[in-house]
Amino acid sequence: MGERKNNKHRGFKFPFGGPPLPNPKPFRGWKFSIIYILILAVGMSLFNYVFMKRVNPTIDFSEFKAKILSGEIKRVELTDAYFTGYTTTKKDGSAVPAVPAAPSLKRNGTSGTEPVYRTVPLNDPDLIRLMDEKQVAYYAVSREGSAILNIIFSWILPIAFFFFIWRFLMKRLGNMGGNVLSVGQNRAVIVAEGDIITRFSDVAGVDEAKEELVEVVDFLKTPQKYTDIGGKIPKGVLLVGPPGTGKTLLARAVAGEAGVAFFRMSGADFVEMFVGVGAARVRDLFKQARDKAPCIIFIDELDAIGKSRLNNIAGGNDEREQTLNQLLVEMDGFDATSGLIILAATNRPDVLDPALLRPGRFDRQVLVDRPDLPGREAILRIHSKAVRLSPQVDLAAIARLTSGFVGADLANIVNEAALLAVRGGRTQVVQKDFEEAIEKTLAGLQKKNRIISPEERRIVAFHETGHALMAAFTPGADPVQKISIVPRGIGALGYTMQIAEDRYLMTEGELLGKIDVLLGGRAAEELIFGKISTGAANDLTRATDIARQMITDYGMSSRFRNGALTRRGASLLGSHQAPEPVLHREYSEATQEYIDDEIARILETRYAQVRETLAQREALLHTVAELLLEKESLDEKEFKELISR
Ligand code: ADP
Ligand code: MG
Ligand code: ZN
Repeated sequence: MGERKNNKHRGFKFPFGGPPLPNPKPFRGWKFSIIYILILAVGMSLFNYVFMKRVNPTIDFSEFKAKILSGEIKRVELTDAYFTGYTTTKKDGSAVPAVPAAPSLKRNGTSGTEPVYRTVPLNDPDLIRLMDEKQVAYYAVSREGSAILNIIFSWILPIAFFFFIWRFLMKRLGNMGGNVLSVGQNRAVIVAEGDIITRFSDVAGVDEAKEELVEVVDFLKTPQKYTDIGGKIPKGVLLVGPPGTGKTLLARAVAGEAGVAFFRMSGADFVEMFVGVGAARVRDLFKQARDKAPCIIFIDELDAIGKSRLNNIAGGNDEREQTLNQLLVEMDGFDATSGLIILAATNRPDVLDPALLRPGRFDRQVLVDRPDLPGREAILRIHSKAVRLSPQVDLAAIARLTSGFVGADLANIVNEAALLAVRGGRTQVVQKDFEEAIEKTLAGLQKKNRIISPEERRIVAFHETGHALMAAFTPGADPVQKISIVPRGIGALGYTMQIAEDRYLMTEGELLGKIDVLLGGRAAEELIFGKISTGAANDLTRATDIARQMITDYGMSSRFRNGALTRRGASLLGSHQAPEPVLHREYSEATQEYIDDEIARILETRYAQVRETLAQREALLHTVAELLLEKESLDEKEFKELISR
């Protein structure tokens, strides 16, 4: 459906070779050899420049002649490149060597201890006559010999030299764990089968996520069980949740439980300066993984590469886009029976490219949420296993003090408490250490808006209970699945989850019921505290929208009983001009006024009714809210039990 856009329309950014998308193997080969050849060429010219200065005249030709004339130079070696004058005859005493000597390697003015003069040759017939006159021995050096030496010095030696430097550097870099020159290779941390000691028992407080992942382990262990019956094993599972809730830990636990190899890579590792490198890494990673199947590929921080391409209006990021495209290609390219499962983690599912979430890719999403009270206690228990605790330490009490903390925070608190105990000279960690550690951490978290005050917590508890009770007592409303006051990031302080059935039609009564449930939160706040808060903003928006649609779209008002007041404009598929459906207003100002009044009237009457309903059940409202304050979350069963009493 056109989600996988190719890069052809932005196609001038491929530095070496063509776009590596379709079948990039050949490109890759010569792309990298070009880099090496370039490096080698630059290196060799440098080498030549520094070590092999071919022409290095030490004196002028006239001076050279003068030195012959004065008798200082006794022997002259003639080559095409230069004349070299020696102040001695041959060392062994013979005036003229029978076999010409190889040119001296030392060209810096001395050869051994004897002074050497060198000059650029001039075609001067006088020179020979002068040398004959002065009885200077002169001879030309055979060109073959120097040619071979030339080759050795200007080619073979530098190549060998750079080869060794390169080898040395690679070894060094290899030891450091980096891989600077081998840009195309992946940096996945590969953990072989059996090396992972993490188990599901090391993760707590995220029971729903664990349940889903137990199934994934089963896929990896006994795939036939599923394929025999004709079922399709999911290829990708996306772990979604705030930072520090244990997503990475869970992925490791899956690999540990299944006893398969584990390839771990962070999304950021794919994103490189050079276009195409990330894509090459993805390809490499999948190739390695296929060879090792069954195994798990874990891509941490998927959002680093998986950001929606649609938002890139201003040209976008070619590198990331190519990497993402490659990932999609690879995910489509393997067969679900091959024993390869891709886990990914993100805390920004909202920015992910929709193509990633399509069936056949990350079609399973697992929510890894902040732990509630029992969950926090369990996490504390896990992490304090390795710490010597005083018998007086009450982990449940610590859990109660740490509302809003994630697993990583709790692990940190246990560690901090242990450090405080050592600093206090104790051999066991006591409750006070924990309290101090919590206070330290709290200060940091408060800045991040993740901790709310006790009064706010009470308001949130009653607000959510209001929603839940309205859902329970409104005929036809979706049943409550979970109520929680565990804060989730900025803005959402709690939530009431209803099991929504797929509905294609809704009656007027059901729409009004929806409005009732939405208004339940604010009504409960007003009933209990006598004042209202901003916490209901989102609820009110949604309630107002429903009321407006009832009047304008569904013909459910008294004046326009069976008429629609809006008409959707050309939609995305039909027209090129309108990217969004345009609403045409086809009614008068007076009608607009009527709509506004009618919305206000609906909301007012419903609100009054909701308040009435809740007022009749104030005792129940208190019971549920208090239990919610204590436990932080109530599931379907607990809630049903409370309201059926
Ligand atoms: P995420 O990947 O979600 O950001 P991590 O898995 O990296 O979080 O968690 C960091 C550390 O915090 C873990 O190594 C573990 O020690 C601790 N931790 C986090 N969540 C849990 C949990 N649910 N149970 C036990 N320990 C946890
Ligand atoms: Mg992580
Ligand atoms: Zn609400």
